[in-house]
Amino acid sequence: MLEIRHVTKIYNAKGGVPTKALNDVSISFGETGLVFLLGKSGSGKSTLLNVSGGLDEPTSGEIIVKGKSSKDFSGSDFDSYRNTFVGFVFQEYNVLDEFNVEDNIALALELQGKPKDRDKINALLQEVDLQNFAKRRPNTLSGGQKQRIAIARALIKDPQIIMADEPTGALDSATGRQVFETLKKLSKTRLVLVVSHDREFAEVYGDRIVELEDGKIISDVTKRRIPAQSVANGVTSAGQNTLTVQGGADLSEDSLQAIRAFICGAEGEVMIARGDNELRAFKKAARITEDGGSESFSGTAEGDVALKSYSSEDARFIRSRLPAAKAVRIGASGLKLKPIRLAFTVLLSFIAFVLFGLLSTLMLYNGRAVAASTFAQNGGDYLNIEKNYHFNIVYPDGDVYDSEYNSQTALFTPAELEKFRAEFGSGTFAVYGGMDYSVDNAWLNDGAAREYYYPAIAKFTPVEGGTHTLKLVAGEYPSGADEICISTYLVDVLNNCSFRLINAEGQLVDEEGRPAQSAVEYKITTPQSIVGQYISCGLGCFKVTGVFDSGVIDKKFDDLRSGEFDRITMNMLMYEFQNYLLEGRFKLAIVGDQFYQRHADSFKPYMMVDDEFSMVENELLLFDSQQQAGMVFNAVKAYGADARYPAVFLGEQRQTLADNEIILHADNFINIAVNAWLGQNPMEATPEWQAALKEFTQSLEENIDILSNRAAASAGQVAAAEEWFAQNVFPLCDGDGIAVKITLDQMNLAASQSFKLVGWYVGEEIGIYVSQFFYNSLEKSAVITMQTKYVPPQDATYNGIYIPYNHTEDMIYNLFEVTGYEHADPQTDVFYVLNSALYRSVENANSLVEMLSAVFLWTGVIFAVFASLLMFNFISMSIANKRKEIGILRAVGARGLDVFKIFFAESGIIAGICFVLSAIGTYLLCGLINDILLTQAGLPVTIFVFGWISLAVMAAIAVVIAFISTFLPVYFAARKKPVESIRAL
Ligand code: ADP
Ligand code: MG
Repeated sequence: MLEIRHVTKIYNAKGGVPTKALNDVSISFGETGLVFLLGKSGSGKSTLLNVSGGLDEPTSGEIIVKGKSSKDFSGSDFDSYRNTFVGFVFQEYNVLDEFNVEDNIALALELQGKPKDRDKINALLQEVDLQNFAKRRPNTLSGGQKQRIAIARALIKDPQIIMADEPTGALDSATGRQVFETLKKLSKTRLVLVVSHDREFAEVYGDRIVELEDGKIISDVTKRRIPAQSVANGVTSAGQNTLTVQGGADLSEDSLQAIRAFICGAEGEVMIARGDNELRAFKKAARITEDGGSESFSGTAEGDVALKSYSSEDARFIRSRLPAAKAVRIGASGLKLKPIRLAFTVLLSFIAFVLFGLLSTLMLYNGRAVAASTFAQNGGDYLNIEKNYHFNIVYPDGDVYDSEYNSQTALFTPAELEKFRAEFGSGTFAVYGGMDYSVDNAWLNDGAAREYYYPAIAKFTPVEGGTHTLKLVAGEYPSGADEICISTYLVDVLNNCSFRLINAEGQLVDEEGRPAQSAVEYKITTPQSIVGQYISCGLGCFKVTGVFDSGVIDKKFDDLRSGEFDRITMNMLMYEFQNYLLEGRFKLAIVGDQFYQRHADSFKPYMMVDDEFSMVENELLLFDSQQQAGMVFNAVKAYGADARYPAVFLGEQRQTLADNEIILHADNFINIAVNAWLGQNPMEATPEWQAALKEFTQSLEENIDILSNRAAASAGQVAAAEEWFAQNVFPLCDGDGIAVKITLDQMNLAASQSFKLVGWYVGEEIGIYVSQFFYNSLEKSAVITMQTKYVPPQDATYNGIYIPYNHTEDMIYNLFEVTGYEHADPQTDVFYVLNSALYRSVENANSLVEMLSAVFLWTGVIFAVFASLLMFNFISMSIANKRKEIGILRAVGARGLDVFKIFFAESGIIAGICFVLSAIGTYLLCGLINDILLTQAGLPVTIFVFGWISLAVMAAIAVVIAFISTFLPVYFAARKKPVESIRAL
């Protein structure tokens, strides 16, 4: 059955001297019989048993199992050998507490890939006198009972070898006897190797006794039977020292003679005994068998060990396979050990998974699709297109900064309008403007919500051929430059205002149109009621010839109408409403075809970059001395004799500028001066104040005209103009010029300096003249320039285009195809922009997604690392705690792979719990974040959509984390020799 050949086992104790636990041991074991391994503690008994059972590998030598040498074993063959042939019984019983008696026994079967066999188990339990114990838990059993369960487990797979290492060491002698009885019975049909230090038991039960000392076999004896020999009639002898006489026998003379000779031949006492008890004890002690023969030990001869020859079929091993359910059961039991650590592991993994879950929803986010569906569900009746051109920023060293954000607004040409019309329908129309022009002769009534009612016009759309695609509800389309049609929204606003009648010149009039001394209030109720009246705004006075339908305002803004709301929380809504008004037709007016000719200048955007300036000039941010004037973003040139545009000086004329002096373009000068005037005359909503402002502005413009064209003016006019400046402008100044603060602040070039405004110039190019000194200093401090291919066409006219919106995603996708920086024309740098608050929301959402993705990714990774470490730690700890289980399983025949299964099951359970929690958490969190984005940030866009793919991503990450954190500790645990796990028992 089993041969040990020249086996030496050397233990290299850490730091100590190597121990030779077995020293060149050779021994063979037969097919059956109970073999005792005796010897003092440390003599090498366990080592011999372990090596024989494949729990440990010899340092040198081989073991031969059914003819197969351990030298030919590969990989897990030692495990498979145990699994197939060996049943182990240990001193410490080693039943698994996770399973009841039946399952403990079944485990050995299942490791062989065989199904649980209840009948067989019950039969075995009966055999070890434990019937009805099948469902009991090990912790309710006594030591002896557990040991018998262990024997039953060793037996269930009907092993050809049973190995027991001091199986009775922890039992009292009566129970120990029971165990040996059982082993004895079993040895009739199989080989039983028992390590013991009890010589008496060995001699009683053993068929063979092998004694070890210092790793060597010092004796090897086999029990021999001497049959009973008839001495005389009715008298038999068993060996030399015992006579057996049948009780009540009628002894013949011969027989008595023989008995007498036996007694005479004895040197000491001879006892004659009777009675069952006495005799049984004596027989046992004297090793006399039932049939009267006797037993004795003598050296084991070669013929005593029946060695068969085997075919390779006989030595076929069964590889173990731990059923998944068992692995999960054992794995799950580890979770109870450290609940707090488990909770932390779960919590960190939960956070990591949720972050990855959120991240995955973001990675699946499709900005365009979201934009399209958001648009289809929201948005007004028209979509606004604006025109931009792109420019590059060029640094002095030649570096070019090319960013999508380098853009400026430009005007559409009539040809472009036609292009959009062809694409998006005849309802497409063009507009001028985009900034509010307040209606001057209307004041909102007390109590009316100024957030909702806003008396202003911002955009103007011209009639074409006397008509317009926007339909009138009252009056007629405008014709001249001074006629206008307003929106029904503006009528509604004016209805909430006190409206003062004026005439075409802006003077107050009464209801008959006669000049009036004081304002005459007029009640506007219906669209019809305003037709024929005049309204005044920054562009002049207009006669209202009709009213068009601007549509119904979305109900979601109704809160603003009442004026009763918390201004802080409603900030977003107010902002949204302003855009909504501007993007819709609400602040639109239809104007006659002469309108643009008169007001073109008002709608022209500054051309920041042009050929001449772009080569050398700087950009400056211009503030007035109050730091609040709308900034002017400008180019600059040194003022000198070569100045292209001669300056008009506020005081004395000169050829150059002092270091702290500047000259502005007249337009900017007007802005600065008006702002200075406003600074000294704080806003008052009275007609007198309005009139004074108007007077100042008009005079300013007129006197600028006069002084700019001295040659054309009379000496008196020039003197009057200079006098006017001295009276009205100089007082606004700190000294004899208006102090201007210029902040040079372009791409890291920061310089801030206060300047005295000493004059203006008139010319096509808008810029700032500075002193040669300042100019030089600017030039020295990295001058940046701008480049663009955009050249404004001569007929560039419109600020925007309105496209009728049919609320289909198709149309949005078509629009996406023609708008956006990515569709900039490479020849002209022109691109179109969908000017929509909704679109900006989507864009914001997109950049939010980008940012959050990065945040989620990296915090997720950090948490995942911590979670892995914690799980690693947890599993390592669990492995340490499960050494016993691993040892038992390995002894029963489990492979390293089965050990893997257990701990993967354990970490799988943790990961599974985290996964389920995280899936629920992520789902809820997605809803919550979407809700917050909508209500708090006003993003009408659904960013976090938690779907199956996200779920799959999370599951994949859970698996990866579980795998990473489990692999190493389990790898080392599984690689351990079984005996090392068992020794920990
Ligand atoms: P026994 O079972 O007869 O008491 P063992 O076979 O357990 O003896 O041990 C034999 C010798 O080998 C002893 O000296 C013991 O100290 C040593 N030994 C056993 N296992 C190890 C081990 N893992 N590391 C170092 N020495 C060991
Ligand atoms: Mg031992």
